[in-house]
Amino acid sequence: MINTVYNYSILGAIKIRLYPNKIQEQKLAQDFGNARKVWNLALDLKQKAYANGESLSCYDIKKMLPVWKNGEYDYLKQTHSQVLQESILHLDGAYKNAFARVKQCKHATSRRTKNSNVFGFPVFKSRYDSRQAISYPQGVTVSGNKITLPKIGQIKARVHREIVGKMKTVTILRESTGKYYAAILTEDFKLIAEPLQSFDAAKIIGIDLGVKDWIVDSNGNKLPNPHHLKKSLKKLHRLQKDLSRKIEFAKDRCIADGKPTIEQRNYFGSNIAKNRKHVALAHEKVRHARENYQHQVSFILANENQVVVAETLNIRGMMANRRLSKAIGDCAWGGFLIKLDYKLKAKGGQPVQISTWFPSTKTCNHCGVINEHITLNDRMWTCSSCHATVDRDINAALNIRDAGIVKIKAAGLSVYAHGGHVRLDAVGQAAAAEVGSLCDYA
Ligand SMILES: [Zn+2]
Repeated sequence: MINTVYNYSILGAIKIRLYPNKIQEQKLAQDFGNARKVWNLALDLKQKAYANGESLSCYDIKKMLPVWKNGEYDYLKQTHSQVLQESILHLDGAYKNAFARVKQCKHATSRRTKNSNVFGFPVFKSRYDSRQAISYPQGVTVSGNKITLPKIGQIKARVHREIVGKMKTVTILRESTGKYYAAILTEDFKLIAEPLQSFDAAKIIGIDLGVKDWIVDSNGNKLPNPHHLKKSLKKLHRLQKDLSRKIEFAKDRCIADGKPTIEQRNYFGSNIAKNRKHVALAHEKVRHARENYQHQVSFILANENQVVVAETLNIRGMMANRRLSKAIGDCAWGGFLIKLDYKLKAKGGQPVQISTWFPSTKTCNHCGVINEHITLNDRMWTCSSCHATVDRDINAALNIRDAGIVKIKAAGLSVYAHGGHVRLDAVGQAAAAEVGSLCDYA
């Protein structure tokens, strides 16, 4: 099959590591502080306006910038003006997102209290926040292994990939590990394949996601759970215990010295700062290992298949189970499915989601009878109707695949097989009933 290839505008992002020198670090610290100051001043204005039943637009607040600069906060002049404006813009965006979440939740019954910030309304920022950031809407240039920022100058960088397309916003970050990064958003005209309209049955795969085996596919392959977090948990636990012990000790000493409470809270000796960094580094290592693994597995799946069928995950519901939440969080299926989704689409493939309520585990793939007696402990079971003995997870993956094929056909796309028509065992037509978008991971 020949794929016509055509231009497609897409927003890409690339994160590169920065190595600022001591002077540049100081300048950046000043800019982080100034952007934070503007955020906090603007937030204060907004909150006061809301309390009076009014609302302030982004434009209203921007008009305050010269007033602040020429008045009490003249140090704001040291920072590039667009960085400060961007801070106000971000605050506005954060408010809009929070209001959108409120609107979305209005019909849902909620037991949440009014006081907790469940909708994620913007909060005041502190110099002790683990992540500091400033954004430049324009004016940043990259050449070779150097990135040039307005008012700061050339910073050494490790540009590990060519930056293609027009650069949009550039965000400079300082993570809790003390490492600096530039997150560059680009508008890129990428070559991507036109979506396929008919699929080779041999290249349609169903995947069952689990805790014990991370992924079981309909071809019978089992990928064990890498347990990135579990492995490092012991070390993390020790580091975290070290840290909290030192903080408690410091607090005690502060009280003994009779220092004010704000100092108690913010008292971080150099040893504590060092421990804090160790904890952050351990977390980062887990995160990187997990991301890497997800990229590798999704790359292979997207390369070998045209369609990957998975069940919609009710992650929030599963996380509510306290005993399982840590193990499920460690699995990180959400991030994996997002990566799989765009990797498949870039090749013209199609991710398909089927409902969580589809009885993929209890349905026998040979005869379609639902076996209600199956429990979580039955790794292998025998069908009460056709007496076939099946592997629990592989059977589920096969059912997921079949339900996906039904859904593809119902959406008006075709499936062909080499030598004969597609074998579709008597899987419940539940999947066909819920035709809509084939996939919307959110
Ligand atoms: Zn059966």
